[in-house]
Amino acid sequence: MVERVRSTQQGQRDFVANVSHEMKTPLTSIQGFAQAILDGTASDSQAQQHAASVIHEESGRLTRLVDDLLDLARLDAGQVTFAHAEVDLNALVARVIDRLSLRAGEKSIQLENGVRGLPAITGDGDRLAQVLTNLIDNAIKHTPVGGRVTIRGEGRGDQVRVHVEDSGPGIPPDELPRIFERFYQVDKARRGGEGRGSGLGLAISREIVQAHGGRLEAASAPGRGSRFTVTLPAGLPSDSTLSRRKP
Ligand code: ADP
Repeated sequence: MVERVRSTQQGQRDFVANVSHEMKTPLTSIQGFAQAILDGTASDSQAQQHAASVIHEESGRLTRLVDDLLDLARLDAGQVTFAHAEVDLNALVARVIDRLSLRAGEKSIQLENGVRGLPAITGDGDRLAQVLTNLIDNAIKHTPVGGRVTIRGEGRGDQVRVHVEDSGPGIPPDELPRIFERFYQVDKARRGGEGRGSGLGLAISREIVQAHGGRLEAASAPGRGSRFTVTLPAGLPSDSTLSRRKP
């Protein structure tokens, strides 16, 4: 009991430390560049334009962080109501790919949709689109220019799987189990700039998939890419086995 209380307290302290750390970097940039405009260090219009764009970008980052934190808090508290509707994963994957194709194109990444003929499942289409957007977006982010991202589907008995595969650098085996932890980022020190995330995306995605009675897993061969797999129970809302399951 004492052990459990201690570990909860440690968890809360870590969480606060992580949130503070994630907020500190953008706030420092915002303050610095606003100061440069105020005190005239950013004297010409080009320097002012640059300062304003950094402030804009970093405040966007803070907004995304707060949105993710609120989403996680609601998921934790069980305050999120999931739709319990028929979802056509074939159409859903096509829609998400369509939305991300521009970003893939900017990096000349071949974004391939190999999903077809998947049976219908029951769940919340918007939330599942959020998961696939996160996975495909990560895949594009981590794949070098000219690489490839492939989405495949697999319908096996009472389960449906969607794989997101990339030709990026992969994830070291000792870090692989940790990437679903809140705030965990591989190679945190080396990353920066526009594509920098907060390490909450996969934690949120896993919560959403688990709320559907499914699993979200990752596999990777370092140097040869990563594969993220969403496994969901197949079946329509009318199935008696499903109505007993709480999504
Ligand atoms: P974020 O993308 O905001 O950093 P995520 O929770 O989405 O947070 O991902 C956590 C970490 O997992 C990332 O920082 C990255 O190091 C690693 N990761 C996720 N997807 C991939 C991928 N496709 N290839 C390599 N590393 C990945």
